[in-house]
Amino acid sequence: MYCLRCEREIPDDEMDKKNEELKTLYGIDSLEKGECPVCGNQMVRGPPV
Ligand SMILES: [Zn+2]
Repeated sequence: MYCLRCEREIPDDEMDKKNEELKTLYGIDSLEKGECPVCGNQMVRGPPV
């Protein structure tokens, strides 16, 4: 998934790991909702072409 605002990408195979990490460390569940954990923007699939 990709955040257009941060220009940051989280590969699909890292989403689960990242989600667990953020939930455990910070109590953030943004990734479950498809939102960027940094800015809260809705993330999109794949970087823009
Ligand atoms: Zn972002």
